[in-house]
Amino acid sequence: MKLEQFERYPLTFGPTPIEKLPRLSEFLGGDVEIYAKREDCNCGLAFGGNKIRKLEYIVPDAIASGADTLVTIGGVQSNHTRLVAATAAKIGMQCRLVQESWVPFQDAVYDRVGNILMSRVMGATVELVDEGFDIGIRESWENAIEDVKAKGGHPYPIPAGASEHKYGGLGYVAFAEEVRQQEAEMGIKFDYIVVCTVTGSTMAGMVVGFAEDGRSRRVIGIDASGTPEKNHAQVLRIARHTADLVELEQPIQEDDITIIDDYAYPAYGVPSEETNDAIRIAAKTEGMMTDPVYEGKSMQGLIDLTRKGYFPQGSKVLYVHLGGVPAINAYSYIYRNG
Ligand SMILES: *Cc1c(COP(=O)(O)O)cnc(C)c1O
Repeated sequence: MKLEQFERYPLTFGPTPIEKLPRLSEFLGGDVEIYAKREDCNCGLAFGGNKIRKLEYIVPDAIASGADTLVTIGGVQSNHTRLVAATAAKIGMQCRLVQESWVPFQDAVYDRVGNILMSRVMGATVELVDEGFDIGIRESWENAIEDVKAKGGHPYPIPAGASEHKYGGLGYVAFAEEVRQQEAEMGIKFDYIVVCTVTGSTMAGMVVGFAEDGRSRRVIGIDASGTPEKNHAQVLRIARHTADLVELEQPIQEDDITIIDDYAYPAYGVPSEETNDAIRIAAKTEGMMTDPVYEGKSMQGLIDLTRKGYFPQGSKVLYVHLGGVPAINAYSYIYRNG
């Protein structure tokens, strides 16, 4: 595998910590050992998260292109747009954000707090657009790119979640290598890796990265998009493309991708009662916060799968915490009593 041929612009602090979650493991019956890899603590850029690891491989291309403006798109409470805004500030570029109405949620300050608040404070130009959820390429984003050009700027387009970007999968190939090194230091090996998936490149990168030691199928994707067929197709396509880039020796097969679609209900960005319970359980047992859009749903998946005995007794399970907690501020009514 040849990842070194790709330039990486350092934005993270270095390898993210892996911590044991003994109280959560005990709460769930004590048959499996649960650990968390804290991608939510990966850098000093506006609370960090998985998008920063992807952007480390995208920024060199943006700089080389001569661009002066990063242009991207997401929902109103998108973590991705917040982190592109932070990255633009850090590398001295402008930032143009399209924020669509992907989430049918009515909290009075939904478009004022959390992620979008920070994007504005970091100087991004924020445009609110009334379009529904889709993980594909959007017209409003293409219009924004044209608008930057029309005003004399040099845009660098980054698709939703940085997933359809040609280098979008590389960051999480590097993640797998990092986990292997930490496993060697800790003297353990994880049997399962649980990760939230929506636009696909986080999971796709992991599937490629863990192919090297035969663990692609041990990457368990918890769908939070509510459109699992599209998600599966996108993860597979990005994994194959990324495998080509890094010259992976073995092909990625369709059944290398394991996505469980039982937890995205009732809709993308809307937590169920079970999601909210999962958020409270992680918070009360470990002081670990998760959000109602992404990690709350993968936490719900982790909890339910553990209770159902999906992981054989004695398994070591690595829950990958991808960030996203700022969005919980936009759901204040749900948690008004905890
Ligand atoms: C973007 C995001 C995800 C999903 O990652 P994809 O690469 O889009 O599948 C999960 N959790 C959080 C907190 C995110 O910001």
